[in-house]
Amino acid sequence: MNRYQRTIKKEVKISGIGLHSGKNVNLKLIPTEANTGIVFIRNGVSIPAHVDYANGFDFSTSLYKDGQWVKTIEHLMAALFFLDIDNLFIEIDNEEVPILDGSAKVFIEEIKRAGIKDLQEEKIFAVLTKEVKTTYEDRFILGKPSLQFKATYHADYKNSIIGNKKASYIHNNRFVSEIPNARTYCFLEEVEFLRSKGLAQGGSLENAVVIHEDKVINPEGFRFEDEPVKHKVLDLIGDLYLIGHPLLGEFYSFKGGHRLNAAFVKDLISQEAVEILPVSEISKEYIKA
Ligand SMILES: [Zn+2]
Repeated sequence: MNRYQRTIKKEVKISGIGLHSGKNVNLKLIPTEANTGIVFIRNGVSIPAHVDYANGFDFSTSLYKDGQWVKTIEHLMAALFFLDIDNLFIEIDNEEVPILDGSAKVFIEEIKRAGIKDLQEEKIFAVLTKEVKTTYEDRFILGKPSLQFKATYHADYKNSIIGNKKASYIHNNRFVSEIPNARTYCFLEEVEFLRSKGLAQGGSLENAVVIHEDKVINPEGFRFEDEPVKHKVLDLIGDLYLIGHPLLGEFYSFKGGHRLNAAFVKDLISQEAVEILPVSEISKEYIKA
């Protein structure tokens, strides 16, 4: 467990197109002080990466504040969680974070290239202290207290290419995990519908895996055989980070998506199921409980 809060060593610029908007966008990641959190800045408006500002969950997670949107934040948020980055300003000059290769891979590579910096302040976690379950129809997310972060996704699709599979991420084993490299996917049958709703305008085989019946359309195929399930774990991790601190707990999602992820994070707060604690107090607190 990292003891100190982290930011980046120097500015990082990343450009690309938005998956849904199809628009060009430039990101500038800027180092900042301890206890700032992750904060997007668009047209001069500061938008904390917090579930309080989460708004709009159609095939991505978006933030909205004072007339400004920042859309499809989840893969960048997951990258920051993977790298233990607690504090960062993210300037963005258009409405949607670039999709890049559809995973967290490029964000992680670019941030590592700039370097990561420990700050002087102790790291602060959101520690899950009791069981919480959020249900919608046959879908649910279950959180259980633990001193490690573990996220599991359980997919249950009718098709055989995804089918009924589980994938997990454990933060202590992140250096061997395939989760950060798992790409966005969609079904060919959905593409026309998404486009008619103004979504997936920037989608292509460069930034998404497209599945048709039981086949992958992309010539390279999957990066690993359960890539779609692993991508759902990536999305879950990015959305859970919207509690404003790295979580400690074990999280199990059965068929969840962005909307249920956000509802779950809101439940954690409204049910007072997390304690915000500096790292030095965490084990002690657990013994008391
Ligand atoms: Zn995603």
